[in-house]
Amino acid sequence: MSDRSVTTYSMWSLFRNCRKAAQYRYVLDLVPIERDRNLAFGSLVHEALEIWHRTRDLAATLDHVDRACANRAGDEEQRRTWHLATAMLRGYAARYPTEDFEVVALEKTFEGEITNPATGAASRSFVLAGKVDGIVRVGDEHYLLEHKTAAVLDSSYLERLWTDFQVTLYSFYIEQTLGISIAGVLYNVLVKARLQQSAGETEAEFETRRAELIAKSKSGKSSAQRRMPESDEEFQRRLAEKYADPAMFHRERLYVSREQFDTLRAELWELTQAFLDARRRGVFYQNTSQCFQYGRPCPYFALCRSGGNPNVIDNLYEKLPPHQELRADAAAAEALPF
Ligand code: SF4
Repeated sequence: MSDRSVTTYSMWSLFRNCRKAAQYRYVLDLVPIERDRNLAFGSLVHEALEIWHRTRDLAATLDHVDRACANRAGDEEQRRTWHLATAMLRGYAARYPTEDFEVVALEKTFEGEITNPATGAASRSFVLAGKVDGIVRVGDEHYLLEHKTAAVLDSSYLERLWTDFQVTLYSFYIEQTLGISIAGVLYNVLVKARLQQSAGETEAEFETRRAELIAKSKSGKSSAQRRMPESDEEFQRRLAEKYADPAMFHRERLYVSREQFDTLRAELWELTQAFLDARRRGVFYQNTSQCFQYGRPCPYFALCRSGGNPNVIDNLYEKLPPHQELRADAAAAEALPF
């Protein structure tokens, strides 16, 4: 398969949603220098969960987080990530001390043919590769294990899992390439706590507050104390209380439908043909309805608005080979908008 281009579901999904964004990422190999921090957090938790499910060793799992956030003493962003990931994983280990599934594989990669549904012939240009978080056995059935970190867990979030066609397609490829029949998907959802470490107040802020309290007080005095910054230990305690709530973790089992396999494979073929046509003609049109999907600008917004200005590329983007999610270490998150 080596002379054909490796592609991923992320690539085809991006191409379907906005061809221009797919050109920037998969033809020009560009990613923003400033990556989305939610994606980086999700990648770290995925890596840590792999260690946990492989070893059931919490110390080794937390050690991975420590090393990933080695500069947390001086880096605000790393400290935030470290606190949240550490508390989340401690809570996770306490919530699931035993499992009712058996782990068959973790971070399993696959590579398979993309076939023409009309003729059954394999694409001469592309293969599809992917990586599943895990394959587990429950009783005599196999499920894909799919980790999700969610900002909010509500009924609409769970409803939307049905539209997660990637796992349906992956189920098909796992069956084809590994010969394991997949009954469904076990979604393993971990909710992100919204707590913030309190910064306390500066001397000047305290004096202002104290002066206001004195002005309001009949005695002309105030016993107010300066609010000091919350220590790391105090914040971890507060996070631990939050993660003691079972609602911060959720497992949802969905069955994959066999009919969807055919629909998705046919759609995948159509996308390959459209991509070949776009590449041959050098035409990747914009889909501006996607620019602010999920309430944030597309990572290519600055570049797109500038009409592909090379100065914008030099200042805000760098080259990174595609499909980072397939790498063995998988540390770099894909900066994809959709
Ligand atoms: S900014 Fe909008 S049109 Fe441009 S690549 Fe992103 S989604 Fe597409």
